[in-house]
Amino acid sequence: MIDGYTKTLGLIGDPVEHTLSPLIHNTLSQKFGHNLIYVPFHVQKELIENAIKGAYSLNILGLNITYPYKTQVMNYLVDIDDIAKQIGSVNTLVRFKNGYKGYNTDMPGLYRALLSENIKVEGSDIIILGAGGAARSATFMCAFYKANKVYLLNRTLEKAEKIANEVNNFFRRNCIFPLKISDHSKLPNKKFFVIQATSVGLFPDVDNVVIDDETFYEKIHTALDLIYKPKETKFLRLVKQHGGKTLNGLKMLLYQGIIAYELWNEVSVSDEIANSVLDELNKS
Ligand code: NAP
Repeated sequence: MIDGYTKTLGLIGDPVEHTLSPLIHNTLSQKFGHNLIYVPFHVQKELIENAIKGAYSLNILGLNITYPYKTQVMNYLVDIDDIAKQIGSVNTLVRFKNGYKGYNTDMPGLYRALLSENIKVEGSDIIILGAGGAARSATFMCAFYKANKVYLLNRTLEKAEKIANEVNNFFRRNCIFPLKISDHSKLPNKKFFVIQATSVGLFPDVDNVVIDDETFYEKIHTALDLIYKPKETKFLRLVKQHGGKTLNGLKMLLYQGIIAYELWNEVSVSDEIANSVLDELNKS
């Protein structure tokens, strides 16, 4: 029931029509019995500053920010969490006294998704495919949670080199090693956990895969594809065919939302509630 006490939360992006975030947050508010509503806001680039100021004036409790505004929005906040500042990407705004504070919940959301599947980051050797925004959060996550060696493979080597330099400097540890994706055969001969963070294979491009050389898949014990549409990408099918464990991007999406919900409402979401929201996402 929406009444005079209902608080509003929302998502700002362009486009927003495909989003699963309302399903996550409205299911969470039902589970907690909170009087909240979460709605999508389709905002055009030139209106983003107005949108943030207007949202604050309208007493909107918090916002998620999605493509293409995760960096641009940082100009219109009263404060930014340290790690979000370093990553250069904000996906969650929390209401404070004179405006919103920005957080990045993609990075801890990814880590919680891995924890929930017993996939270890600490001390592990990891390959990340891609050097876009999602790969950048994944690289920070690996360094923050003390992975052993992380090979960052991208089609455009310079982008992987830039992220590797920034992350190695920030954590004062030489743990990120950039490589051109076509040079993947130069990787050490051992088994890795792989994070697929390119957009190759995303619906409707479902018949494509970023590496099709089968020998690469022999080096994978576990793989996460950040894509969740389709639920099983060609990449994950190849990993499975070579005996690896697989996970799609739905749990990362779920946990970035859960961490935002926890920040807005000062609650802690149990595994039981998280799993019931995941059931809803899997049905969608
Ligand atoms: P992005 O910034 O546009 O980066 C795209 C990446 O894909 C770049 O590394 C790009 O390489 C690579 N790429 C694109 N086409 C390629 C091709 N034909 N061959 C080789 N590499 C190619 O995108 P993003 O925001 O990082 O998102 C990446 C993926 O993660 C998307 O599918 C997105 O849906 C998913 N994602 C999921 C979640 C989640 O919650 N599960 C969150 C965020 C993103 P170049 O640098 O060489 O162009």
